[in-house]
Amino acid sequence: MRSLALVLALLAGLLAPGVAQAAAPGTPNSPLLPPAVARTILHAAPDSTIYSAAPDSTIYTAAVADYPAELRALTRLLDTYTSADDEAVHAGMLLLYYGHAQPEFLAAVRAEPEVLRALRRFVLGHLDLFGTDRQYLVQNATRELGRFLQHNDIAPRVRPLLADLASRGDVVGRLAPMWVGVAEMVDWYDKANCRRYGTCDFRARIDRRVLTVRHTCSATLKIRAQQLTRTQLRRTCSSLAGQDAAFHRVVRDPGPVAGDRNTSLEVVVFNTGNDYRTYAGVLFGISTNNGGMYLEGDPALNQARFIAHEADWLPTFAIWNLNHEYTHYLDGRFDLYGDFEENMTTPTVWWIEGFAEYLSYSYRGEVYADALAEAKKRTYALSTLFDTTYDHDTKRVYHWGYLAVRYLVEKHPADVAAVLADYRAGDWAGARDHLTRVIGNRYDADWYAWLGSVN
Ligand SMILES: [Zn+2]
Repeated sequence: MRSLALVLALLAGLLAPGVAQAAAPGTPNSPLLPPAVARTILHAAPDSTIYSAAPDSTIYTAAVADYPAELRALTRLLDTYTSADDEAVHAGMLLLYYGHAQPEFLAAVRAEPEVLRALRRFVLGHLDLFGTDRQYLVQNATRELGRFLQHNDIAPRVRPLLADLASRGDVVGRLAPMWVGVAEMVDWYDKANCRRYGTCDFRARIDRRVLTVRHTCSATLKIRAQQLTRTQLRRTCSSLAGQDAAFHRVVRDPGPVAGDRNTSLEVVVFNTGNDYRTYAGVLFGISTNNGGMYLEGDPALNQARFIAHEADWLPTFAIWNLNHEYTHYLDGRFDLYGDFEENMTTPTVWWIEGFAEYLSYSYRGEVYADALAEAKKRTYALSTLFDTTYDHDTKRVYHWGYLAVRYLVEKHPADVAAVLADYRAGDWAGARDHLTRVIGNRYDADWYAWLGSVN
């Protein structure tokens, strides 16, 4: 996945359809999804389709008829919670998240603030959920309690509850998601009082105490990690170093695109997907309902960085999407003029994500079984795939992107060269013309034959 802070800020609004007031650009993430949902979308774009994957996520986007009754029911639910109530609690967190835009909701909370204390009771009563795959329940409850700090008249009730939660956790350890959740909300809504929670320097603390491993692979490549052994660092460095040659062999670039000064890359690796979801959002301002992210930033000015985590569910060591995200770095530097926003002025996602998948799998010599299974279904014409955007689903963006790029690289390298020459010059219209007019549907028949034989 690729993104940049600006796009993400805008996407934050998309995550909360219909309540722009509550989720104005630049506010903290909406409630976290259960990890099982987050896992299935892997490295999908942080668009609204992700959020709609949450159970009942659209229910509370409009005003709820009877807030006092809803809040009393939620209070009861939190106090009597059993594991059969996960979906109901998640729906309750969405009710709270979306409620801030509704005057009737705030009036009901002011009249009956017991729900605030119930949130703290729920978190404290279920600290055992931290570190499990149902952690999102207590993590969301912590954050939704903190979100009330934005209202001056409600904040005095919330401060002691949150300060109590913070005092029981730390920046590291099993309760870190609770501590970081408090720190993030305080940072957004009650920064002037951060001493009270002991979270004033939380970003520096995460940096110092979580990302403790610093390693230089080469003059152009650095790793900051939570927990990588010397052997793992060496393997990561050599995997990335070897990928450069594989990349240049395919794209045959004449050097970096004009104006690109992203000469070096920083790779940030969290220990687990859970750690990624705990820390990466607050440290780098990214959405973490995905499997990693490349931040090109302004290629003329800044430090390019990608943020990833170990694939802790696999039996052997791997950094999830390592070679995929690294391809984005190389592609941004050698194939795509300008920054990510500029790259998105025409549909280029078929190439950006498809090529990242193609190079990742071909370089590692791995069979992309999911994509090959899709090929047999003959779902899309090649000409259709040139219109792919991040609004399309994971299968179309990643699996079909892979197939489209692989087909063109294997069967029509001259077309790849022509399109990349335009991408490198920032001639997006020229590339689009090549894809839609010069190629058009000329290859579609051959494409379908290839889909039947590819393996
Ligand atoms: Zn990607």
